[in-house]
Amino acid sequence: MLQKVLIANRGEIALRILRACKELGIKTVAAHSKADRDLLHVRLADEAVCIGPAPSPASYLNIPALISTAEVTDAQAIHPGYGFLSENADFAEQVERSGFTFVGPTADVIRLMGDKVSAIEAMKAAGVPTVPGSDGPLPDDEQAQLAIAERIGYPVIIKAAAGGGGRGMRVVRSPDELVGAVAITKSEAGAAFGSSVVYMEKFLERPRHVEIQVLADGQGNAVHLYDRDCSLQRRHQKVLEEAPAPHLDPEARAKVLKRCVDACIQIGYRGAGTFEFLYEDGEYFFIEMNTRVQVEHPVTEMITGIDIVKEQLRIASGLPLSITQDDVQENGHAFECRINAEDSRTFMPSPGKVTFYHAPGGIGVRMDSHLYTGYSVPPNYDSLIGKLITHGEDRASALVRMRNALDELLVEGIKTNIELQQDLVVDEAFMKGGVNIHYLEHKLGLS
Ligand code: ADP
Repeated sequence: MLQKVLIANRGEIALRILRACKELGIKTVAAHSKADRDLLHVRLADEAVCIGPAPSPASYLNIPALISTAEVTDAQAIHPGYGFLSENADFAEQVERSGFTFVGPTADVIRLMGDKVSAIEAMKAAGVPTVPGSDGPLPDDEQAQLAIAERIGYPVIIKAAAGGGGRGMRVVRSPDELVGAVAITKSEAGAAFGSSVVYMEKFLERPRHVEIQVLADGQGNAVHLYDRDCSLQRRHQKVLEEAPAPHLDPEARAKVLKRCVDACIQIGYRGAGTFEFLYEDGEYFFIEMNTRVQVEHPVTEMITGIDIVKEQLRIASGLPLSITQDDVQENGHAFECRINAEDSRTFMPSPGKVTFYHAPGGIGVRMDSHLYTGYSVPPNYDSLIGKLITHGEDRASALVRMRNALDELLVEGIKTNIELQQDLVVDEAFMKGGVNIHYLEHKLGLS
């Protein structure tokens, strides 16, 4: 087992990683920015090192500072969490070249999955169902572009191969818009992501977002931990998630779960990962793979009893998976409400001092948060201040627990989206289950 791990992240996920390390007897180093001296995990870590000023390029994205901190503290491994450098293949490569372990897949696999065109190719080769599309980068020839769109059928979506965070995409509904849209997406992608490679997919009108959690040890063993539904999104940002995804076609589900496991073995996957799909009319369409732990991982932990972050650390220690597929049993249902420091109606960020914090409790209730009374939420980072997770023997009971837990949760001094979450958990369509990715924006009157 690893002896000491550097945590290259902040907020709730840094605390989550710290807790997993402690349970495994691993010492921790909190690498933090100047704005984050008062973070809970910084106080609880065995060692804390300030790696730079508040803006993330100077701290959480500062590769030399992180690697030299690992060096001086004698940490053996770096856990990148999510966001920041977690899916940066160059970082993973430099970490490993400097003699440390990157808690995640190899740089080659991150690179393969980071380019959506190569990711889709690899998934097709592994038998994972993908969206009908251009099967590779779009050619420059305009007639060829039109012919591809004709074959796929309108509407289509033009997407940047290097895109991320819901940016670099454009929907095209008719041939006369196509050539112009491709040109604009290419130039935007070049400016935003440093690569103007774009590809085309069929645009699905009302899909759900269903994703599959996997764990693989890079030694020939892989398991899936079933699925999550993250269809409730605003501007491609997930708001409320659940596991398992409700009302799926059981046969299609069993097949795709197996395909994901096989794909992990085929590409030599190591660590925790997520296959993201659009799901429409009983069919799955792969869109991308996230090669890191995800914000919504707790709902999967609640229904399987498997600690995903501990498994990441075991795998990074070079140990084979501690579980087989038969050990992974689905039990009940779980929800996660993301709690953000933002106005429930305008979504304006609301940093500042938390004058009072009270976390809910009771059976089946989990609060993953770095908040405490007196903590000041800095304005420099994203607005996630916690995740409220509930578990129940079935979907209805987990939802009742969530309603009660949201009522108990108190965060004073700053604005939060708790009210929005309270509205969502009594929404009739959501209560039935299986709403599509546009539902929340329609409900909010945003589209
Ligand atoms: P990113 O890496 O930027 O998150 P994704 O490929 O995961 O990009 O797509 C982000 C979101 O865009 C999806 O969750 C979905 O809402 C929408 N989207 C992407 N591809 C399609 C498609 N083919 N049809 C319909 N919506 C899509």
